[in-house]
Amino acid sequence: MEDLSAVYNDLIMEHSMFSENKKDLEKADYCQMGHNPNCGDEIKLEVKLDGDRIEDLAFSGHGCAISQASTSIMIDTIKGKTIEEANEIIATFISMIKREITDQEELEKLEEAIAFKNISNMPARVKCALLAWHTMEDIIQQKESAT
Ligand code: ZN
Repeated sequence: MEDLSAVYNDLIMEHSMFSENKKDLEKADYCQMGHNPNCGDEIKLEVKLDGDRIEDLAFSGHGCAISQASTSIMIDTIKGKTIEEANEIIATFISMIKREITDQEELEKLEEAIAFKNISNMPARVKCALLAWHTMEDIIQQKESAT
């Protein structure tokens, strides 16, 4: 049997060391800071919308490998999706981390982000993994309260 957790770790390492999503957006509609004082992770998430669709995202900042990789993988996962789809993906990710959803089929919509499934075994790392997702939730809330 293949050791899937090793594969997932490679993916996380790859995204944390080199991410195409770590850059500045030229014309961002939203810019939100995320901070995890437990670990010292700090990210700035930028989002460009096209109507209800998430056209582009980027991040900058610093922190541990988990927080950086989670941000980068979240961007890959929700880019091109509608706000509604992104909301559902974010909720599924958070439920996966809290172990409220374990059904593999349901988790498939997370694509690569499923790599963080085993983070729930490492309580000290959970906030690192969730940082970007909560930051994106804040942005969606800002958008929804503005319309
Ligand atoms: Zn961290």
